[in-house]
Amino acid sequence: MPKPIVAIVGRPNVGKSTIFNKLTGQRLAIVEDTPGVTRDRIFCDCEWNGHQFLLVDTGGIEPNIDDGLLMHMRRQAQIAIDSADCVVMVTELTAGVTPQDIDIAGMLMRSGKPVVLAVNKCDSVGEPPLELYDFYSLGIGEIIPVSGVHGHGTGDLLDAVLAHLDFSNEEPEDADRIPVAVIGRPNVGKSSLVNRILGEDRMIVANEAGTTRDAIDTAVDNKYGKFIFTDTAGLRKKGKVENGIERYSVLRSLAAVERSRVCVIMIDATEGFTEQDSKVAGYAHEQGKACVIAVNKWDIVDKDTYTMDTMRKQLAEDFSFMSYAPIVFISAKTGQRLDKLFETIRFVDEQNGTRIPTGALNEMLARATARVQPPSDKGKRLKLFYITQSSTRPPTFVSFVNQKALFHFSYQRYIENQIRETFGLTGTPIRMLVREHG
Ligand code: GDP
Ligand code: GDP
Repeated sequence: MPKPIVAIVGRPNVGKSTIFNKLTGQRLAIVEDTPGVTRDRIFCDCEWNGHQFLLVDTGGIEPNIDDGLLMHMRRQAQIAIDSADCVVMVTELTAGVTPQDIDIAGMLMRSGKPVVLAVNKCDSVGEPPLELYDFYSLGIGEIIPVSGVHGHGTGDLLDAVLAHLDFSNEEPEDADRIPVAVIGRPNVGKSSLVNRILGEDRMIVANEAGTTRDAIDTAVDNKYGKFIFTDTAGLRKKGKVENGIERYSVLRSLAAVERSRVCVIMIDATEGFTEQDSKVAGYAHEQGKACVIAVNKWDIVDKDTYTMDTMRKQLAEDFSFMSYAPIVFISAKTGQRLDKLFETIRFVDEQNGTRIPTGALNEMLARATARVQPPSDKGKRLKLFYITQSSTRPPTFVSFVNQKALFHFSYQRYIENQIRETFGLTGTPIRMLVREHG
């Protein structure tokens, strides 16, 4: 059962990411020193009063404000309206009610989505300031004063949000059931794949009501294991709507990636790789998901003995940032190699959850540093004291060193490659964290 989605919208600098960070607390701190992760962290699993939901900062999804603030905010609001189950609109006490706020509040209210207004930067405790009451003019009944920096009011905010969410279908997660997101451009064959799978295997649950609209969840049990497939209707353009804003269901796709363990990145064999494919794949990679590249429509490719090898080499280049991902050539139409696809999904999922004992890691480290000496700078040499695996999904390794600055990217890459060479970890990204010590 997919978790409900709560989206945060609001003007730049009102404090959306500060509130997001406060609400998501600990989880964010863990990824803080993974380069490129924190900045783009726009989704987070939250738990409040025993209920789980997915929190999204739409300011991170829609970062382009070049064409004007109002347009920017309307796009954010549209994403939230399309995809979220409850919207948190953020404004700031200090700036008062702005024309953009009025426009967006109107748009949100007309959509019929539940909306809660967080008036941020109410930093002093005690009686609410009088200016707070101005915000009732926006027509949003529920106003919660908060301070993202200090954390005041964030509990009330979560209470208000939760009151709008439906948890009646909440089920305990089944750790044996692998959530798989099928992602890719429109028309590559995502729905065909899921339909084909349904035709071959007995369908157990199809989620119709629920919170999902753009994505459909399908549970499948077969000899390869238990799976739940999300066919993301895709990063599909849905035509123009209110105010000429183009509607994308990006959020659902990204949310499907977020809650998956394995991403099947589907491309069309007759078209090959495109920029958009690397964008989608890049997101799965950053989120640390196990990945399989599925080349679909293999049935209609003119092939000889070399075609597959040639294409494999080309794709390895195109997807060089995720060279760990296995490539499977399939046909959703004929069912060709779907057994291989299931085997691969299962395999990469196991790899993503691998835990390597510290002893084995440090034996590897001793061999690796003996073979290629750690770099030095101005007479000072990098010392790698030890490595330990701090978490799984994705496998995350912490190296303890004498000086971070000495642990150059190229040597980190070397150690990462040594880890892969020694322990495999096929099909999954891995993360390397560095800590200074002594
Ligand atoms: P966003 O663009 O909406 O994500 O805004 P940010 O979260 O980046 O915050 C913008 C600025 O407002 C930053 O300098 C924050 O430190 C500041 N800020 C955020 N929340 C509060 C708050 O509760 N009180 C005060 N005084 N400043 C805040
Ligand atoms: P989606 O937008 O990614 O969900 O793509 P669809 O599943 O709707 O498929 C788009 C088109 O490609 C449809 O006309 C399908 O019949 C066709 N298609 C999908 N998979 C295959 C395949 O394996 N072989 C062939 N020949 N056509 C396919």
